[in-house]
Amino acid sequence: MTTTVEFIYRCRKCGKEFTDGATGTKLGIQILIAVIQDMPMPKNLIGMRPNMLTLHTCSDKIKSTGVADFIGIHEKE
Ligand SMILES: [Zn+2]
Repeated sequence: MTTTVEFIYRCRKCGKEFTDGATGTKLGIQILIAVIQDMPMPKNLIGMRPNMLTLHTCSDKIKSTGVADFIGIHEKE
């Protein structure tokens, strides 16, 4: 069974947390450290940096689109 790491975002508009993108566990930790320390990505991970902000299609009646922050990672088997 392979463990992957998913990138977690929280919408500023509606507060919902959701995942967007995934990678292997060790790579996920390396990516998270690079992001929080504002360092360049390791050469083998170039192109895998998660965006600090992304869009969220909120589940409200007026079909809002919110801005979501990258808030962390979690493991998923
Ligand atoms: Zn939202």
